Amino acid sequence: MDIRIAGIVNDSIVDGPGIRLTIFTQGCSHKCPGCQNPQTHDFNGGELTTTEAILAKIDGNPLLKGITLSGGEPFEQAAPLIEIVKAVKARGLDVWAYSGYLFDELVEGKAGPLAIELLKLCDVLVDGPFMQDLKTFSAKWRGSSNQRVIDVPASLAAGSAVDMPGM
Ligand code: SF4
Repeated sequence: MDIRIAGIVNDSIVDGPGIRLTIFTQGCSHKCPGCQNPQTHDFNGGELTTTEAILAKIDGNPLLKGITLSGGEPFEQAAPLIEIVKAVKARGLDVWAYSGYLFDELVEGKAGPLAIELLKLCDVLVDGPFMQDLKTFSAKWRGSSNQRVIDVPASLAAGSAVDMPGM
């Protein structure tokens, strides 16, 4: 399946625990003021690749603990990411996702039904838009202090966002 990406980092250590393959999807409708990656906003920009090509990269790195979905806005390209994430979970890897949507907005379907399906497959969600005036270098895994590091299975079971322990 086709997927439009801004880029891939094969061995990230800053987008979640352990060594991770991070997929930066292309296209984002949030337009957060002060966004550090404005080149990822255009849904026709970036590079067209395939889910098969990305899975081949994942299989080429035996050191991966998991993958991270970032952007752009990954939940606005949910269909190909669902395919990738299902295959990744079958390989025993974990899945983190960054989104400009809040957990509650995704659950309510603000990004569409496929985004809900993608959320259900994720282990951890770092939610909310980057906010320039809340920018921080000290909050682990987050760019601004409004963002939350959410345990997705626990949150879906509880019906509201549950922070990862220690966050
Ligand atoms: S959600 Fe992320 S990529 Fe999109 S505008 Fe906000 S900070 Fe930039």
